[in-house]
Amino acid sequence: MITLTNVRKEYSSDVAIGPVNLEIPAGGITALVGPNGAGKSTLLTMIGRLLGIDEGNITVASYDVTSTASKDLAKIISILRQENHFVTKLTVRQLVGFGRFPYSKGRLTKEDEGIISRYIDFFNLTELEDRYLDQLSGGQRQRAYVAMVLCQETNYVLLDEPLNNLDIAHSVEMMKHLENAAAQFGRTIIVVLHDINFAARYADYIVAVKHGMIEKEGTPEQIMKNEILSEIFNTEIEVIEGPHGKIACYH
Ligand code: ADP
Ligand code: MG
Repeated sequence: MITLTNVRKEYSSDVAIGPVNLEIPAGGITALVGPNGAGKSTLLTMIGRLLGIDEGNITVASYDVTSTASKDLAKIISILRQENHFVTKLTVRQLVGFGRFPYSKGRLTKEDEGIISRYIDFFNLTELEDRYLDQLSGGQRQRAYVAMVLCQETNYVLLDEPLNNLDIAHSVEMMKHLENAAAQFGRTIIVVLHDINFAARYADYIVAVKHGMIEKEGTPEQIMKNEILSEIFNTEIEVIEGPHGKIACYH
């Protein structure tokens, strides 16, 4: 479980996130949704300790994020940031191999190599593994980054908009991979999603963020309602019953 208690971040006198109180259940997929600038990335990077907390505290599986040593935290939680400042002179295989760093300290064992191959394969990157990152399409590069994060094999995985740059087929595939990782390996996945319909279809729990606060949280069934979605996203949304659950329709 991830617990945020009275968490606050103040960027400036007029931009502040929180206070946020939130419990994210262990296991399954939790989607963070909400309009641009709501504070989703801020919350995710604070949970992953890439950004300091001004007030309050965060625990991940009962480890205090602020006081746990980085090398220990790296075996518990991994994160993909929204913007990747990638080094282009890395191959796909080298990038994915970075995921093993908390274990290998730069010396990859045979076991590490096996794990790297497994995730490369999992994301259909085998044919591209020796290509440099700047020789890939945006979607291929995005898959390589997610493969690197999953290769870290942490119980908690934070992904900020992993569907960026992916076409519909690859988005569906990515969500199925995440579903599998949660179901088969018991991972807890927290994912920022732009498209509420992907959240409704694949997430077990949805947390809606707006103006730096938690606006609503619940199961897809509880969140997928006309008034709730229209309020969260500041536009008229109508929910209809689709073949696999509820679908949000824009006007
Ligand atoms: P989201 O991911 O939901 O789009 P963010 O967490 O990126 O939202 O941003 C939340 C708010 O904080 C926005 O108003 C944004 O402009 C502001 N913000 C984000 N990062 C910084 C920063 N480094 N310095 C100042 N303001 C920031
Ligand atoms: Mg963001």
